[in-house]
Amino acid sequence: MPPEMADSGGMLSNGRFDVVIIGGGVSGLWCRWRIAQAGYSVALLESNSLGSGQTGASQGILHRGVKYALSAQAAHAAAVAEESARAWDDAMTGRAGPDLSGVRVLADRMLMWTDAGLLSKLTGAIASKVLTSHVVPAEPKEIPSFLAQRGRSVYRVGETVIDPISVVRSLAQSARGPLIRTGVRAIASTQDQSVVSTESGELRAGALVLCAGEGNAGLLEMLGQRPDDWMQRRDLHMVAAAGAPGPLFGHWVASATDKPRLSVTSAITGSVVHWYLGGELAESGVVRPQEDQIAAAKSELEICFPGLNPESWSFRAIRISRAEGKTDAGKRPDAPVVREIGGTGAIAVWPTKLVMAPAAADDVCRLIQARLRPVPGNEWIPGSEARPDYAIPAWQIRE
Ligand SMILES: Cc1cc2nc3c(=O)[nH]c(=O)nc-3n(C[C@H](O)[C@H](O)[C@H](O)COP(=O)(O)OP(=O)(O)OC[C@H]3O[C@@H](n4cnc5c(N)ncnc54)[C@H](O)[C@@H]3O)c2cc1C
Repeated sequence: MPPEMADSGGMLSNGRFDVVIIGGGVSGLWCRWRIAQAGYSVALLESNSLGSGQTGASQGILHRGVKYALSAQAAHAAAVAEESARAWDDAMTGRAGPDLSGVRVLADRMLMWTDAGLLSKLTGAIASKVLTSHVVPAEPKEIPSFLAQRGRSVYRVGETVIDPISVVRSLAQSARGPLIRTGVRAIASTQDQSVVSTESGELRAGALVLCAGEGNAGLLEMLGQRPDDWMQRRDLHMVAAAGAPGPLFGHWVASATDKPRLSVTSAITGSVVHWYLGGELAESGVVRPQEDQIAAAKSELEICFPGLNPESWSFRAIRISRAEGKTDAGKRPDAPVVREIGGTGAIAVWPTKLVMAPAAADDVCRLIQARLRPVPGNEWIPGSEARPDYAIPAWQIRE
């Protein structure tokens, strides 16, 4: 079956699949490919559009551990990110599946810059084993004029930035099995069988995989669980700015914390350059009302790029939560979190980062293979079910 057929809506001939996945972000779609690859029949349910959650709001940086290098527990996170980033490289160059050759690469490197006082901290991190292969001083021609400053050190970081919605598209087309736009009404699940009641009818599955990001909270409640026992949310207040002088992909390391003060990614629509701003600005900005967050963003830009006049650009602040597996201290997990929800037969997934989705999918597939064999005959016939659209990236959405 050609891929364009594989992701069209389908009338479920018997409503039974080996695996039903709920949630069509990067984790649900990567799991769908991985599980289908292992020979199982899979249906994926999405209540909105594919990529409409964190995936479409992400900055699309395929982190290779550099982001974590300034923090104390860098090594494990960096190693997982590095291994997963290699899975992306393989998929994007055709060395291994899924076929991500159609993914749009926005930048094949990031910049990282710091001002005089923090140089020693950064050089210490760069000297660490984690970073040596990926961070080198940037060539003068790589440094945009608005970034160049006296006393500033600029490094080139070997991290790729991709358009997350193009990932969603490629993943959706890389595996067969229905993608169905529908809301979930109820779930009855035991270790051997799950019954998912949806707005489009009932689905049965040998295993149920919850990849709904923040929406996993409601699904866990349907399974009689307390979401707070399994997951946490960490809020962000991102800022999108239109009118920047040129594309920029980089981290400004300028505080004593382990986070970049600003992380900037870019997109171009027509002749307009958009900057999407995260980092410490987005973390500390959760307490600020929208106007104050925009004022804070302008102030950060003026400090970092003294020659620019952000007053003439147009700004929007975007609130979004990161949904993650629970950690004791409420901090970011340093690997994907994949949990069997005891007694219910469901597996809940939080990849922690976009880049870690391949590792999460491998874990899910291992758990399924340990308890389920593919059942022949779970076929579906393309029909009238609504197929979800692809999302618009969060930085581009107009109110
Ligand atoms: C602002 C921001 C920037 C980020 N930047 C990066 C980055 O640069 N690099 C990186 O590696 N990671 C980044 N991340 C993290 C990364 O985006 C997430 O880890 C990843 O996208 C999570 O994917 P997911 O598929 O688990 O969840 P989501 O993308 O949130 O997908 C969940 C899907 O489930 C659907 N859904 C919800 N409830 C239901 C339901 N009841 N029934 C059916 N469907 C449902 C939603 O509509 C959604 O489509 C960023 C995150 C944020 C918030």
